Amino acid sequence: MTAPIRVTVWNEFRHEQHDPKIASVYPNGIHGAIAEGLKEAGFTVQTATLDEPEHGLTEEKLANTDVLFWWGHGAHNEVSDEIVNRVHKRVLDDGMGLIVLHSGHFSKIFKKLMGTDCDLKWREDGQKERLWIVSPGHPIVAGLSEYIELPQEEMYGEYFGIPTPDELVFVSWFPGGEVFRSGCTFTRGAGRIFYFRPGHEEYPTYYNAQVRQVLSNAANWAAPTVTFKPVRGNYKPLEKIEVIGGDNDILSRLKG
Ligand code: ZN
Repeated sequence: MTAPIRVTVWNEFRHEQHDPKIASVYPNGIHGAIAEGLKEAGFTVQTATLDEPEHGLTEEKLANTDVLFWWGHGAHNEVSDEIVNRVHKRVLDDGMGLIVLHSGHFSKIFKKLMGTDCDLKWREDGQKERLWIVSPGHPIVAGLSEYIELPQEEMYGEYFGIPTPDELVFVSWFPGGEVFRSGCTFTRGAGRIFYFRPGHEEYPTYYNAQVRQVLSNAANWAAPTVTFKPVRGNYKPLEKIEVIGGDNDILSRLKG
């Protein structure tokens, strides 16, 4: 039996502390609700929040993280560049998986990995969201049926300023007529990234069984598979090769 996948759930954790209405939806924080679902699914789960030293993402914590979940909203700019660079390097070089949730579309780490503005349109009207599965064979939708319906969510609409995803897994429909690419996969370096749209702080989205299924599938999908470190810089040939001007250079030998 292989060791359980080690997941860290990072949350900004500000709304829940400052807004009683949101605290009543997520008494243990958004990270607490996400962590609960992942623990039930058999993952080894830690959490980390913005106001902890190093935002809870020490070198040691990241070294023991296979997949990092990221929920942020109002305080993206309070995340230090040093920690963003640390997470970025761990994704690119070590293949740590990254699951970016909802308003995390504007996080420093997601924008750095995408290289685009990641902007979108939005409306907080608490209407229904229907997420259609558009990649039925994808491991992230294992166990689900045709669509997920959430009774109340915030609307996000296209155009979403991301690079063309490697795979589009969900497309959302909203009653206002908008659509949105709500489940997108990307590869950066050795790392796998999944952006998943739902999860506005006012609604109990992270208790929804189908949403939890997606998050658990995503953690399995994004866990690292790399077994080597990238090799960079000056590199000795693996085969015997003729170096121009060197001892084995055929022109130099002909000239005698
Ligand atoms: Zn929101």
